[in-house]
Amino acid sequence: MKVHQLEVGNMQNFTYVLEDEQTSEAVILDPSWDLDNVLGVVEKNGLKVKYVINTHHHFDHTIGNDAIAKATGAKIVQHKASTLKNDMTVSDGDTIRFGNSELAVVHTPGHSKDSICLVGDGKVFSGDTLFVGNCGRVDLPGGSARELYQSLFGVVAKLDDSLVMYPGHNYGGSPTSTIGREKKTNFVMQPRTEEEFLGFMSSD
Ligand SMILES: [Zn+2]
Repeated sequence: MKVHQLEVGNMQNFTYVLEDEQTSEAVILDPSWDLDNVLGVVEKNGLKVKYVINTHHHFDHTIGNDAIAKATGAKIVQHKASTLKNDMTVSDGDTIRFGNSELAVVHTPGHSKDSICLVGDGKVFSGDTLFVGNCGRVDLPGGSARELYQSLFGVVAKLDDSLVMYPGHNYGGSPTSTIGREKKTNFVMQPRTEEEFLGFMSSD
């Protein structure tokens, strides 16, 4: 699976074009702005886009959905807790296939009810659940520090340390990281009890 990471718009969002190199099937994660650049990657590489997948419903990850779907014929895929328009919903444990590539859906609520991480081919696309050096905010509607604690320490921290992490925004010192590196260096990921984490997030 080849990753095309594009920084788009003025909120340091990342859109990803994921290419199955054997078949040229592709998926696009979180289209929002700079769609000409995104479609340029599709065109230049001769890709057939099967799905648009949103890591969660916030507008800066979804506002390009319809335009990309219209331009490519892709189906829009979201977690079942999303309230937005889609063609297909997924749940924790589901597998999304394109070409010979697969992405496993991992439900990680906390930043929003419908937040998911996508795991495949040694990579994790973490959306706004975990950034390089930080995590997503929990003070927007549907956000929950308690749920984020469970998602970060009960789910994300248990993923393979070697997974290369591709976040939803370019907020860190580097555009990518690994789960192992974030567990060591990300202040959010340092060991805390749930109560300590809730205090930490509300004082943040
Ligand atoms: Zn968000």
